[in-house]
Amino acid sequence: MSETPRNVERKSLDQDQFLTVLSREDALSRFNEAMGAFEAKTEERPLHEALGFALARDVVAPLDVPPFDRANVDGFAVRSADVASASESVAIRLMLNDEVIACGVVPRLPVRSGTATAIATGGPVPRGADAIVMIEYTEATGSDAIEVRRAATPGQFISYAGSDIARGEALLRAGTLIGSREIGMLAACGIAHVAVVCKPRVAVLSTGDELVQPGGALPPAAIYDSNGAIIVAAVIENGGDATFLGAFPDDEQVLEAALRDAVAAHDMVILSGGTSKGAGDVSHRIIGRLGKPGIVAHGVALKPGKPLCLAVCDGKPVVILPGFPTSAMFTFHDMIVPVLRRMAGLPPRADARVTARVPVRIASELGRTEFVMVSLVNGEDGLIAYPTGKGSGAITSFAQADGFLRIEALADQMPADTTTEVTLFTPHVRVPDLVVIGSHCVGLDLVTAPLARAGLLVRSIAVGSLGGLAAAQRGECDLAPIHLFDDATEVYNTPFLTEGLELVPGWRRMQGIVFRRGDLRFEDRTPQDAVRAALADPSCLMVNRNQGAGTRILIDRLLAGARPDGYWNQPRSHNAVAAAVAQHRADWGMTIAPVAKATGLGFIPMAEEHYDFALVSARRSRPAVQTFLDALAAPEIHAALLQAGFRPA
Ligand code: AMP
Ligand code: MG
Repeated sequence: MSETPRNVERKSLDQDQFLTVLSREDALSRFNEAMGAFEAKTEERPLHEALGFALARDVVAPLDVPPFDRANVDGFAVRSADVASASESVAIRLMLNDEVIACGVVPRLPVRSGTATAIATGGPVPRGADAIVMIEYTEATGSDAIEVRRAATPGQFISYAGSDIARGEALLRAGTLIGSREIGMLAACGIAHVAVVCKPRVAVLSTGDELVQPGGALPPAAIYDSNGAIIVAAVIENGGDATFLGAFPDDEQVLEAALRDAVAAHDMVILSGGTSKGAGDVSHRIIGRLGKPGIVAHGVALKPGKPLCLAVCDGKPVVILPGFPTSAMFTFHDMIVPVLRRMAGLPPRADARVTARVPVRIASELGRTEFVMVSLVNGEDGLIAYPTGKGSGAITSFAQADGFLRIEALADQMPADTTTEVTLFTPHVRVPDLVVIGSHCVGLDLVTAPLARAGLLVRSIAVGSLGGLAAAQRGECDLAPIHLFDDATEVYNTPFLTEGLELVPGWRRMQGIVFRRGDLRFEDRTPQDAVRAALADPSCLMVNRNQGAGTRILIDRLLAGARPDGYWNQPRSHNAVAAAVAQHRADWGMTIAPVAKATGLGFIPMAEEHYDFALVSARRSRPAVQTFLDALAAPEIHAALLQAGFRPA
């Protein structure tokens, strides 16, 4: 990583600079430089309110812990020399001193040679004693003496004063995040208040006319505000005190008022959305007016995350994250977290990294540092990283990926079989117990549910049938779900199996035409009839599927060379087809019965597709595979599949 600090022109950044895309490193150094050296604010907090804060100063132990020599077991305090020759066959008799030292009792009498004092775990060792004999190895003889049948070494079962923590020893260092263990150490030293770094108060705002808060009803063309919630959580995870101020319309005046209030009352402001230079994107114009030096970077050569806008307004960071949730999160973690943690008094994040091989080629844009989310699975010789990216708008990839890899700005691709470093989202990789790579189907979730309940981690990576077969042939998964129709033999799936793979029958999915109920061009017609009616009406719009999809083959057969309006609209999923029809963006398309049913659309059944599994034979005996096969055969799973609209094979 090359750091090329540049002098930031603090007073007059002109508009042109906002349009210049900076390298990630230049943007970071400008941002840091504009922040300057800031003094973190500190406060004294009672111990029970210090959880999650960073210690502002080193804490030195004010006393010894334990504060006195302490018995570790229940028994008798003795002079070890007295019992040096004791054994199973040689009992040594000691006279009992007239006291019992329970916890919290200060001994009165010394232990003289030939005597012992009864003592409980946690009791202070009396003067003269240098060992504790466990009660199990003694026997009372009368009311005032014991016999000892085991020798004791000096120091046996005693915790000496200061052996845990010694007075003057550095207990905890400044910058330590205070967790329950740290609180325990402080409490043991009698410390009731600690100096902590004040949590930076971070205002989180969203902008976009289309945003609705979770819980509200979703009107057409609207989406839920996911950034607000993720950013608040991520700020808290990194030591900030986050306040969500809501989603604001793309209205310059409204947004400016909100941002001014936010800057006045917080130490940092994070806005997401409205940073591209598109219509309605006004946030960056406002930021320029909020304080000095203002915007230091607008446009960073990152993917995802190019429209990131970084500003410092009178000493406070003000940031506009890109609207797309994954872009927002990557730029937040990469560019904002370091500053936030510095403000919170925390050391830089130490993300765990692992080395993995990437089995497929990943294309990348020259000139932008690219982050690619990956799922990790165990290969023959080490970890394998599968790109899981669904594009920068996809929020679910974040939850399902294990981490991300980085493609440097100067590369236009990462060739297949590259070994690279993967930064983990969690402290450890948890390698899945069952890996399923291939075509995804909602039915699959029903079958894997019992595995999840049994505590098994199932990783399902959607790469399509052919991608799944290739992964199975390379031994990268246990099972590849496939639905491939062989034109020559008119048979599903079996013709595609190669050596080392066997077929496990899955279920049948009825493919058919979806339409809005009441549309007479489709209602009560056969598929052929319906398509004839659709083709006869020039205003009738279809929605197609992508090349390579099993459904596409059926559509092309049905159309027999016709190319009606909408043919080039080729979404990649069953659900997208149903959504297009339900929302009147198209009048008909082809999807599977369960999806049509769930969307409430009319459906003309056409042909049953076989969704089966190519099992890697060598992995059949694995416990997780067995559990999966058992689930696949279980009557209650069959019932669940039927209920969802599938027909078990
Ligand atoms: P923008 O940066 O405003 O141009 O937004 C880019 C994309 O991100 C658009 O598809 C927005 O609808 C989406 N987006 C913006 N803000 C949010 C948000 N808070 N939550 C989820 N998506 C958002
Ligand atoms: Mg927007």
